Amino acid sequence: MLRTVLTRTFPRIVSPVARQFSAAAIPAPNGQPDVHFNKLFINNEWQDAISRKTFPTINPSTGEVICQVAEGEKADVDKAVKAAKDAFKMGSPWRRMDASHRGLLLSRLADCIERDAAYLAELETLDNGKPYAVSYCVDVPMVVKCLRYYAGWADKWEGKTIPIDGDYFCYTRHEPIGVCGQIIPWNFPLLMQAWKLGPALATGNTVVMKVAEQTPLTALYVANLIKEVGFPAGVVNIIPGMGPTAGAAIASHMDVDKVAFTGSTEVGHLIQQAAGASNLKKVTLELGGKSPNIILSDANMEEAVEQAHFALFFNQGQCCCAGSRTYVQDSVYDEFMERSVERAKARVVGNPFNLSTEQGPQVDEEQFQKILGYISTGKREGAKLMCGGGVAADRGYFIQPTIFGDVQDNMTIAREEIFGPVMQILKFKDLEEALERANDSKYGLAAGVFTRDIEKAHYLTNGLRAGTVWVNCYDVFGAQAPFGGYKASGNGRELGEYGLNNYTEVKAVTIKVPQKNS
Ligand code: ADP
Repeated sequence: MLRTVLTRTFPRIVSPVARQFSAAAIPAPNGQPDVHFNKLFINNEWQDAISRKTFPTINPSTGEVICQVAEGEKADVDKAVKAAKDAFKMGSPWRRMDASHRGLLLSRLADCIERDAAYLAELETLDNGKPYAVSYCVDVPMVVKCLRYYAGWADKWEGKTIPIDGDYFCYTRHEPIGVCGQIIPWNFPLLMQAWKLGPALATGNTVVMKVAEQTPLTALYVANLIKEVGFPAGVVNIIPGMGPTAGAAIASHMDVDKVAFTGSTEVGHLIQQAAGASNLKKVTLELGGKSPNIILSDANMEEAVEQAHFALFFNQGQCCCAGSRTYVQDSVYDEFMERSVERAKARVVGNPFNLSTEQGPQVDEEQFQKILGYISTGKREGAKLMCGGGVAADRGYFIQPTIFGDVQDNMTIAREEIFGPVMQILKFKDLEEALERANDSKYGLAAGVFTRDIEKAHYLTNGLRAGTVWVNCYDVFGAQAPFGGYKASGNGRELGEYGLNNYTEVKAVTIKVPQKNS
């Protein structure tokens, strides 16, 4: 039974990771994990906000308050940046630590997260609403793999020797940038934390991280593990708080050397402006998307329907790379639509702690209302509502899996990021048209192609203006492969070897070499 649940919840997908789990391997959740940490983590100590302010974090399945959390603001960010700056000083324990030992600490952190996987998965589900089976079988294992991957890089990120003209020895050192501000979103709280911490710490930086106000709890638990495994004080500081206060204070801080942000394109603009207006800190951005997923008439239809469903509905539709413009070739459009509607109607929505649940609530009231607003706009602008379209429960932020057909490129629902369980299906005739329309977006994060024809696959993968293209699959992530956006979907790449560049200064050292003993 659970095997079926798993293959349905993650159909052959994210799932080099998910596949390793069987029914017996998932510990039963009790649905009420205790919260152990709800303060600011600065200098390896738990601290109240200087203002003593707190904010509630909400269980999206019920709308009830889970607990109050310390609300960091500018003064707290100043304190955390000072701690991170001190930890980065030449001669500090962190700067003197062997690179191999930095790797060992990251590896031990991965071990502790694996040890506490069931608890962390429960806490993630409580705070975020994603199904526990997904938290446990996808999110947490991907976190562990990401940290282990970067642990391995710590003593392998090598510079070069360079044959410049003249009697000189020239080499490069890959040095840490310094204090890195990291601002993360709520859709994959643990995973986004790992994507940011892994490369930053492997390369020897120090960190001030602001976690999303909707989902602060798991990142704070991980902070405690960071202390447990022995990272020196001040290397990682974690501040829960609001974007316009704590987040903005990081982006404009004169002593933050780099800011890495994942979130909306709207806020991405603000981050880049703040960096420009302050100290020109380095900026990496992983932003929004409106990713095309192109289904050609020769595709394996069963696979294409299932994967396109997953591409959009996974994580309650709250993925920056969601395949949210499904382009279907005209000759298979009706069949694809019929099967997609059937699949969406069968999607299990409900209590995320129930192991058969595929879709939990949206993360909060604001997102919930925003998505319902987009559904109204879709109807008003003339798209055809094929299924769903309403609220799925009488409390919490549940939305029915929704499909719109006859969607036109200029409709709001085809242009803006909805970030919810709302699928747009659009019809096309030929490849040239599909490519042109797919690229007609300010975004360029990801794209999908479903075909059995290798030539068509190459034509599209080469032409698509997106940082990731999946062929006959979707949302397949590995810590080894880079991820990031073209155009307004971002700057820089996360994950893989490419991810290390964003956390490194390259220093060229040139030494005069005497040609004879004098
Ligand atoms: P969403 O709309 O999906 O919540 P946001 O881009 O608003 O996405 O949020 C992503 C992260 O950015 C969160 O941690 C949020 O608090 C933070 N954030 C929001 N506004 C700002 C801002 N003005 N400056 C810095 N960070 C911000």
